[in-house]
Amino acid sequence: MLPLTYWDIHDPRVLEAIRIVPRERFVPPELQQEAEEDRPLPIGQGQTISQPYIVAYMTEVLRVDSENRVLEIGTGSGYQAAVLSLVAKEVYSVERIGNLAMAARERLKTLGYGNIHVRHGDGSSGWPESAPFDRIMITAAVKSEPPALVEQLRPGGFMVFPQGGRRVQYLVRITKDAQGSCARESLVPVVFVPFVRGIL
Ligand code: SAH
Repeated sequence: MLPLTYWDIHDPRVLEAIRIVPRERFVPPELQQEAEEDRPLPIGQGQTISQPYIVAYMTEVLRVDSENRVLEIGTGSGYQAAVLSLVAKEVYSVERIGNLAMAARERLKTLGYGNIHVRHGDGSSGWPESAPFDRIMITAAVKSEPPALVEQLRPGGFMVFPQGGRRVQYLVRITKDAQGSCARESLVPVVFVPFVRGIL
């Protein structure tokens, strides 16, 4: 079981979600022994499942409530989506690599997560049919936030994403006010795989 007391994670719902989601089911079989360690692990196709601490931190700073519909870009293994699904009403997750999208969809279904929708596509265009979203999270590093995602964020909503190049990235939070104007905060340095356009 993963440690429960991450020093600056305060939301008990986030800590509970991290405790409940079986991370070992989201990593390749040969890495299951390492699933409880607080570090990223490879999930194939050159991609990684994030460190649990970062998953918890990003979930906390997104300020998700149980009525929220959340859009995640970068499904990967589906682990972050699973954590989000326990604190939100519904999760929509987009992955550009077909094999990962398919595997994550199957895995989440097997594990019984009924409120997660996975789509194979380029997250640059978001998920227009289901927009607007109360919260948006990107789990790959963008040079700048894709405009379609900002458009699909509901006024009063939050969006969290890593921004930067291969080496230096910061986690950024955008807050959209009731009038639709956006404010941005730079939170902490992070390391994510790059956001890439187009599908595989
Ligand atoms: N959230 C994942 C880990 C993310 S790794 C988890 O919990 O396991 C980043 C993922 O973003 C990779 O799977 C990568 O293929 C995907 N990605 C990168 N650019 C993307 C884009 N434009 N649209 C959708 N997914 C993208």
